[in-house]
Amino acid sequence: MIAQRLEVKTLPSKVLSIILFLMTVVLFSALIFHFGVALKASHVLAKGGELTFQENYFKNHKITSLTGEWAFFERQLVEPHNIQNLLSDATLIQGTGGWSLNNSTRDSVLGYGTYHLKVHLSDSDLNLALQIPKVETAYKLFLDEKLVASAGVVATSVEKGVPEFKPTIVIIPKHTESFSLTIQVSNFHSAWGGLWSPIVLGNTDSIYSVQRDLVALSMFIIGALVVTTAFYLIQYYFRPDEKIPLAFVCLCLIFLLREFTAEHMYFVLQYFSIGYSAALKLNYLTFYLGVLNVLYFMHLCFPRVFNINISRFFYVIGISYSLFILFSPVELIGYSLMSYQLFSFIVMLYILINMLVANVTKQPTAKMMTFSAVVLSLFAINDILYANNILDTGPFFNMGIVGFIICQSYVINQRFNSVISNNEALSMQIQQSNSELQLLGAELENKVELRTKQLEKANFELDKLARSDKLTGLLNRHGLHPYLQRAFDNSKQDFEPFCIVLYDFDNFKYINDSYGHDLGDTVLINGAKILKGTIRKQDKLARWGGEEFLVYLPSTDLVGAMAIAEKLRLAIENMQINQGDVNIPVTITGGVAELEPEDTFEALFKRADNALYKGKSLGRNCIQN
Ligand code: GH3
Ligand code: MG
Ligand code: MG
Repeated sequence: MIAQRLEVKTLPSKVLSIILFLMTVVLFSALIFHFGVALKASHVLAKGGELTFQENYFKNHKITSLTGEWAFFERQLVEPHNIQNLLSDATLIQGTGGWSLNNSTRDSVLGYGTYHLKVHLSDSDLNLALQIPKVETAYKLFLDEKLVASAGVVATSVEKGVPEFKPTIVIIPKHTESFSLTIQVSNFHSAWGGLWSPIVLGNTDSIYSVQRDLVALSMFIIGALVVTTAFYLIQYYFRPDEKIPLAFVCLCLIFLLREFTAEHMYFVLQYFSIGYSAALKLNYLTFYLGVLNVLYFMHLCFPRVFNINISRFFYVIGISYSLFILFSPVELIGYSLMSYQLFSFIVMLYILINMLVANVTKQPTAKMMTFSAVVLSLFAINDILYANNILDTGPFFNMGIVGFIICQSYVINQRFNSVISNNEALSMQIQQSNSELQLLGAELENKVELRTKQLEKANFELDKLARSDKLTGLLNRHGLHPYLQRAFDNSKQDFEPFCIVLYDFDNFKYINDSYGHDLGDTVLINGAKILKGTIRKQDKLARWGGEEFLVYLPSTDLVGAMAIAEKLRLAIENMQINQGDVNIPVTITGGVAELEPEDTFEALFKRADNALYKGKSLGRNCIQN
């Protein structure tokens, strides 16, 4: 019954959760389409340091990446007015993906150089702008010969170079038919030097709207992360023994920090004044620790599936990498990235294999967890491949994070819900058991009461049987005992006289022998009836044994007793016992004794017995004392 009730309760919530989940998928698909396809820059490849756009190009393409062959002056900071003279010395470099400088001793990204590109627009009435992304790690940008943007201090030595993170937008003056871009870049602070992301050219409105949409997306992600962090922090506050919410809070905080250091580095540097190197390290750490935290979280959720030793092995590697990031010079940390990407790929594979096992062994919430792990892995792989220029999709990992968090929220809540449902079912069972127990208890009490009553009754009957004589129905010796006891007790307090009479049927052996034992019984039965009917209300009569009877006469003196005893004797004498037509004469002899001070029952009885004996010897059918 309980199981049925719970099923009824969970069915609509299951349908609801599926609907919510599908809605989330639709929302995310729309977001990914918008940022991955609609806002994606098209590109026309530059050739030999020159790029020519066809007429009406910018009517059909909103934004375009300036990639392809740029002119490049390695280890030269060329001023724009000198470029034309030196162009023949320039080498060609891709306008994206950074640089590798030929040093006399080794290939290095540390150094400086000048990028140059000549752009021909076929239309002159365009409203164009350039979007300059993060350039590693300092730059000066000239539009023709005019300095229009810069970040940090471009220098020829590490001592003079100052890194800065400063993406910006540069408006191209109207009526420009062609322009040249000269970018002096130096890098002494990062393992990624030069133009990593391409410079984007497009309609001013489009450039700003892409910028605005990216900020909105980031705000959405930050909002989701902040709300989730707060929610699970509260859960952890109420259930401090439960590790899963805390692990999830850590994960959200790491993701949050990553979002800030990846998308809002300018803000971080500006308002937290932590310096370029520290911010860069923080950005790396969020990735390195994030991978470990995802593994730890999954491990916590499926402790029986994940092998603790393999997980520990991964933790040691991940922590070693993180320590490397913390303690090594900032220009070196980038070298660890490729191998850590490979490592995180292996960790992801390990998680996915374990999720497969969790599904096969039908662990609770395994399906949703697998889905979220696959989502996160796909987004992460996409970003790794994108960062290595293998895929041309776009960086989506932060969206994957939100997807992962939504899935996890569902999973964690389902876990808590199932715990609550189980508790409810258990408490219902307990309640039911309790009421059943109460019912049983009441039934038992009733039964015990009934049995007790029956037992009392049986005891009473037994007692009665034990105190009464079977043949005559009179009291027996035991039955009379309490009356005599009370009489003795009373007499001790204030002397109250009483008497006893001991009767014995005369020549009873002869009756038995002559008329049979049954007739003897009849004599005893009828005699008892007559005696009982003759005594007073307060008197007690008992069969003392055989054919002897004892009468207790309370508050009676010897004279009174003699009279009563005589009356009883007479009643027996007059009793009619017949066998056929023969009348059988029956008589009794009685001995009376009166209580004397300091008497015992034995002494009193002895006197009665003596009196009886005296009666017998005087010829029977008489009363003596
Ligand atoms: P006496 O006048 O001297 O008392 O002579 P008696 O024959 O009555 O002698 P006694 O009192 O010694 O004998 C008692 C006899 O009563 C013996 C026994 O067989 C008989 N009797 C005792 N109890 C019962 C009984 O329940 N039923 C019958 N039918 N006879 C009994
Ligand atoms: Mg006798
Ligand atoms: Mg007798």
